[in-house]
Parts: sequence; C-alpha cells; structure tokens
Amino acid sequence: MRLKAENVSFAYPGNKGDADRFIFKNVNLELDSGKILAILGPNGSGKTTFLRCLMGMLKLTSGTCQIDGRPTSAMSTKEFWEKVSYVPQQRMATSSFTVFENVLLGRSGQIAFFGTPRKEDKEAAEKILEELGIIKFRDRRCNSLSGGEFQMVLIAKALVSDPELLILDEPESGLDFRNQLIVLNTMDKLKEKGISCIFNTHYPKHALQKADYSLILGGETPVFGETGTVVNEKNIEEVFGVRAVINEMQVDGETIKNIIPLYVTGKK
Ligand code: ADP
Repeated sequence: MRLKAENVSFAYPGNKGDADRFIFKNVNLELDSGKILAILGPNGSGKTTFLRCLMGMLKLTSGTCQIDGRPTSAMSTKEFWEKVSYVPQQRMATSSFTVFENVLLGRSGQIAFFGTPRKEDKEAAEKILEELGIIKFRDRRCNSLSGGEFQMVLIAKALVSDPELLILDEPESGLDFRNQLIVLNTMDKLKEKGISCIFNTHYPKHALQKADYSLILGGETPVFGETGTVVNEKNIEEVFGVRAVINEMQVDGETIKNIIPLYVTGKK
C-alpha cells in the first residue's frame, strides 16, 4: 500500500478564504507499506484535524489524499475501511462488553448486516488477542481494565479487520512507562508484517525512536521527511519554542536517539 497526500490544506468551514484560519497548508507526504509515520506539533497545531482529513471525516479544502494512486475521496466508505483502521484517543473504557466481544466488533465490516459473527471472525479475534499478548483478558469486561490494557484492546479491535494502514491518535498518551513501550513496540511488530502506522504524538522522542518518517505541524510550513533528518534541534525550537538537544547512544549494537528539552526560548 502507498499513501500519498498532495498539497493538502484545510480550514474549518466558515473560515475558508481567510488565509490566517487555515489549520495547515500544502502538506505533502508519502508512506509505503511497513513504514511508520509520526505526526508532531504543539497543542492546537492540527494533528487531530490532519488525521480526520486523512480519514475523510473532514473534507479537504484543497489537495488530494490517495491510496495506491486512487483518491480516497473516490473510494467508498467500505473500500476505505477495508484498508485502513483507526485507534481513537480513548483512555477509559465505559463499555461493559467483554474484551473478546469488543474485539469481535472490529470485524463488523466483514459480517453481513444483521448477520452473526462466523467461525472465522471469532478465530481472527482470538488470534489477534494471542498475538498482542492480551488473551488473558479475553473474558474481562472492558470497563474493568486499566488504561494501558484497554489501549491494547483498542489496537486489537482495529487490527482484527486486517488493515494495511493503522492510524493511532496519541496511542501512548496517559500511559505509564511500561505500557508506552508495549504500545510503541506493537507498531514495530506491525511494521514487520508490512502494516503501515501513522501516529500522533506529544513525544518527539517517540518519533525519533520509532518513526521512519515524521510530519511536523505548527511551524511556518509543514515539514515532512525522514525522521532522522527533520526531527532536529532547529525544527524542534522553531515549532515548540523549546531549546532541546538530541543525542545518540549505543545500546546492544544499536544506535538509539534521545531528546532532552533544556529551556523555553520563546521563539515560536
Ligand atoms: P492538535 O490535535 O494538534 O492539538 P487540533 O487538530 O485538535 O490540534 O486543532 C487544531 C486547531 O483547529 C485548533 O486551533 C482548534 O481550536 C481548531 N479546531 C478544532 N476543531 C475545530 C472545529 N470543529 N471547528 C473550528 N475549529 C476547530
């Protein structure tokens, strides 16, 4: 799968034509199978709006999004959601469904209207719970799970439909150290299976450590490119108004990047 956004701009309706009210202008990006894209930017810079545009929930003011050369605006809802899955930003589960039932709901695209889940739907739900290491929660009610456990259930629900692209809205926000790592490492596993991931994040460090590509919103112009190139000290200062240093460590033969925020510069 190849996702392409070409000159994508968006202004909330009512603000069209007012140049200052564009949330973002002329975003260009490309993402191939098995690649991870992080979307970074301060609060209110348009990260969630961009995801909603990408998923067709908001109509672009101009530009096109394409999947494998086809404009997503020309795809039926069914066609689009066969390829793409979404993990919303939701920390607390209110659902009294069990984990298994909730994950099975993720197969609704494959189940006929008013139909009941087939054997293969149930098997797919079991399999994804196994793969994500959460089969032990199978019969627990979602509203009895912790934030980290429930986040993994939401990821399982999104993956059970066998998507080519997974879109996650701040998947690691509000989770503890260990659960953040579990969620981020899950994206690595998906990558190995050729599934692409796009995630919004408040953590430049997570982009540096996990994302092949990054899109930075909130600056003069949107910046897209390989993470190692675009997530640099200059862009971080320009967009966040924070002087930070990026360093590298060697761990078990691997180079790992880290970023340490030093002080607020006021430049923004
Ligand atoms: P982020 O996810 O980076 O925090 P958002 O995409 O939520 O940013 O918001 C970007 C900007 O769009 C903000 O200034 C926000 O106030 C504005 N905004 C969000 N939703 C709406 C809406 N429905 N109508 C008008 N403006 C909105």
